[in-house]
Amino acid sequence: MLAGFNDLATTHPAVAAEWHSEDAGLGPTEVTAGSGLVVQWLCSDGHSWPAPVSRRALAGSGCPSCTTAHTSAAEQRLVQALDSWLTDVRPGARLDDVRMGRNHRATVDALGAFQGRRVAIEYDGAFWHKSEAAVERDIRKTRLLSEAGFVVVRVRTNDLGLLPSQPGLVQVGFKQPTGSESRTAAAYKELSSAIESALISYLRAPHRGS
Ligand SMILES: [Zn+2]
Repeated sequence: MLAGFNDLATTHPAVAAEWHSEDAGLGPTEVTAGSGLVVQWLCSDGHSWPAPVSRRALAGSGCPSCTTAHTSAAEQRLVQALDSWLTDVRPGARLDDVRMGRNHRATVDALGAFQGRRVAIEYDGAFWHKSEAAVERDIRKTRLLSEAGFVVVRVRTNDLGLLPSQPGLVQVGFKQPTGSESRTAAAYKELSSAIESALISYLRAPHRGS
């Protein structure tokens, strides 16, 4: 490692600026971006969390609290927008009859009913759904929900891409909006309509009717 050449502060100044560990003699000029050293980070919203240097610098992971807050705010907006056409909408529901593991009941981001079918809606934020393990988990969970009688709607955000198609799965891509409140509200309204249209065409296909 050569300070001023390939140290973290030089190669990744934005990540280095969030360095929060206070161990004497150890700072962003003393490690490279590939270091597995676990240090404490501080985001601009004041959240502190531990992560390896390489995960931040090379894998590009950010503050988990900010990411979660962003996702749950998005889920809330979506649930509100769905209310115009989906009946019995419930956010953040836990399902007693669908188990992911022995003691692990499945939760879904929103539940509702449409044309006599139970609908489970998942809002897949890029942060938690990107890895290969996450894709496998999403496919498996979709299968379990479908076997339990749900139509599963997955909102795949930003650059996540769609999952391979499988029975019972309806997918809608969505670019998370940035900018003004009115544009954000309009984007979620559009998303809600896109989900409704996708569900209508899915349920209209003859072999899929209830
Ligand atoms: Zn944060």
